[in-house]
Amino acid sequence: MKKIQMVDLQGQYDKISKEVDQAVLDVIRSTQFINGPEVKSFQKEMEDYLEVRHVIPCANGTDALQVAMMALDLKPGDEVITTSFTFVATVEVIALLGLTPVLVDVDPLTFNIDPRAFRKAITPKTKAVVPVHLFGQCADMEPILEIAREAGIYIIEDTAQALGATYKFSDGTRKKAGTMGHIGCTSFFPSKNLGCYGDGGAIFTDDDDLARRMRVIVNHGMEVRYYHDSIGVNSRLDSIQAAILRIKLRHLDQYAEARQAAADYYDYAFSNNTRLLTPKRAGNSTHVFHQYTLVTRDIDRFGLQEHLHAKDIPAMVYYPVPMHMQKAYIDPRYHEGDFPVTEALSKSVISLPMHTELNDEQLKYITQSVLEYVNR
Ligand SMILES: *Cc1c(COP(=O)(O)O)cnc(C)c1O
Repeated sequence: MKKIQMVDLQGQYDKISKEVDQAVLDVIRSTQFINGPEVKSFQKEMEDYLEVRHVIPCANGTDALQVAMMALDLKPGDEVITTSFTFVATVEVIALLGLTPVLVDVDPLTFNIDPRAFRKAITPKTKAVVPVHLFGQCADMEPILEIAREAGIYIIEDTAQALGATYKFSDGTRKKAGTMGHIGCTSFFPSKNLGCYGDGGAIFTDDDDLARRMRVIVNHGMEVRYYHDSIGVNSRLDSIQAAILRIKLRHLDQYAEARQAAADYYDYAFSNNTRLLTPKRAGNSTHVFHQYTLVTRDIDRFGLQEHLHAKDIPAMVYYPVPMHMQKAYIDPRYHEGDFPVTEALSKSVISLPMHTELNDEQLKYITQSVLEYVNR
């Protein structure tokens, strides 16, 4: 059996290697490494894929979030709401910009921001909310959009884990993750659903004015060369990464289908087990399975992880420590016990291998090995 990886980038590359190698060589021979035609073509193709007016490529997903917040002209002390059960980048940039992160709890079944908790956390200082579409499916955007509109606050979607997922509104309208709020942010880190071979990121918006401001910010606050009207950053997607992303974007929906098929296999294998809760699929969003995350009940999950490792099966815990309990973000407003769902999840979740190259032999071995530990 082929060695099981958490994410099998090698197997995925093997299938597109000829095309990728040629594209990379072409960029090198063109020497247009920065802002070359590949970047512009990728931007356009991404706009078409997402059906959004503007895609602004940048250096990584964390920068995308930072640039989005810079463009909204938020002031120190302004509050930005997000969840405690997330990857650190979301909270990090809020804090870096001198804004105040306000954390809320998540839904126990989808792991995404709980709209009622979001509503409760709004104060006169709230300026924005960052729903994170965690593990591959959209947060419940319809109520979030409504609450944010009423309160007059911006929505920045963190789409780093859910690029390609589609949300369905109650009137039947469908929109891609990252195109529902004012701004969407994503990452092309290699292990993401659309990953490049290095670092990369992008920002999406339908708002022409915000788009113009963000294009200026990613380029040192410079619209006219060497005239700096605002403080910016240096955040670029390089041409080699753009060329690779153009090829992989054509496969993105098919990649999602491969992940969904693996998730179906896992779901079925664990469906009768009361100690393993399989990930719920929200009725109003497709799931692109950035991660396949089980909630364990009365199982020593690190014991399970060790059992799997001993059998050469990787498994990871995303995320073991909620943001309100991280040393860097200790805040007297928050205490252990404040976000019971987040805290319970961080003590019980485990993620299994999930990628586009899993085959039935591997899936059978993984599920049998998990059940062996759980049922012993
Ligand atoms: C990966 C990730 C990011 C950051 O992306 P980078 O490209 O690594 O900076 C931000 N938010 C979430 C939810 C992520 O998973």
